[in-house]
Amino acid sequence: KSKDTGKNKFTLFDVTMEEELNRNSLITEVLRHAIANKEIYVMYQPQYNIRKEEMTGFEALMRIHNPKLGELTPQEFIPVAEESGMITELGEWILREACLFNKRLIDCGHDSLSVSVNISSVQLSKANFKDIIQNILEETGLPAANLELEVTESTLVSSLTNASVQLSSLKELGVLISLDDFGTGYSSLNYLTNMPIDTLKMDKSFVNNICSNAKDARIASGIINLAHSMKLEVIAEGVEKVEQLEVLRRNKCDIIQGYIYSKPILPHVLFETLIPASEDTGNDTTEKVYQN
Ligand code: C2E
Ligand code: MG
Ligand code: MG
Ligand code: MG
Repeated sequence: KSKDTGKNKFTLFDVTMEEELNRNSLITEVLRHAIANKEIYVMYQPQYNIRKEEMTGFEALMRIHNPKLGELTPQEFIPVAEESGMITELGEWILREACLFNKRLIDCGHDSLSVSVNISSVQLSKANFKDIIQNILEETGLPAANLELEVTESTLVSSLTNASVQLSSLKELGVLISLDDFGTGYSSLNYLTNMPIDTLKMDKSFVNNICSNAKDARIASGIINLAHSMKLEVIAEGVEKVEQLEVLRRNKCDIIQGYIYSKPILPHVLFETLIPASEDTGNDTTEKVYQN
């Protein structure tokens, strides 16, 4: 009897695996033409400094919309893009888009906003990554100090080249580096001391129960103090509730990013919020965004 169950389970598992492979090859196809077909677009999520009480930057988040498959989440397409190597091209696309957009904001007088772009280990592993960043900065005219590259602890682990050397050479350009999803990796403290990092992004999982769980609250407070003792700015990710915000404020967190301030929004929405229509130069340089 138990043999049968095992066999059935194996068969089920097989079918699931096959479906997943089929879906992944569909996604691979979509990604291959996403740029040419304009199925790729970017959303920006504002970051709010709770000490200065002002927006100080925003994170670029990649989106794919395919007519047949619908909206794909980064959780499903980023791994496929990394395995197929296509993340290099998609990653360059979003970097250029984000730099162009922030340059436009600077030209309209918002010259101190930073744009954060997520970087995959596949990108960081490329020997020419620094050149790619340098070229994009030159092409778009964005000052390096207005660009922040987000890496995760797992990015640093899985990078083929020496991640610390790579980050140091990027720092020479003048860009900022932030450590994303902090606390979810397995050797966080090691990275804090050995990598040239400017900003620490405390993972959403620590923020979630910051009000209801005393241990989580102490960990969050500890992370903030640790970061400050190393002269890093702290961003709390995934802040949704007023009560969470209050606890973070009490613990001297610098910046929050979460639905309580803003969900990720389309570029033109962010642009119009920062620069009301009357102030716009009227030049029709509006970047292309996905439209239904
Ligand atoms: P991440 O870099 O940690 O980005 C933050 C994620 O948290 C985003 O999910 C954002 O929409 C979500 N988020 C922000 N505030 C809240 C909140 O208050 N509540 C909740 N429930 N969620 C919130 P998203 O856009 O689905 O992206 C997921 C992940 O995909 C990102 O996590 C990042 O690791 C990856 N990703 C997104 N865009 C890119 C990209 O251009 N390149 C690479 N390599 N990875 C990307
Ligand atoms: Mg910043
Ligand atoms: Mg990020
Ligand atoms: Mg994160």
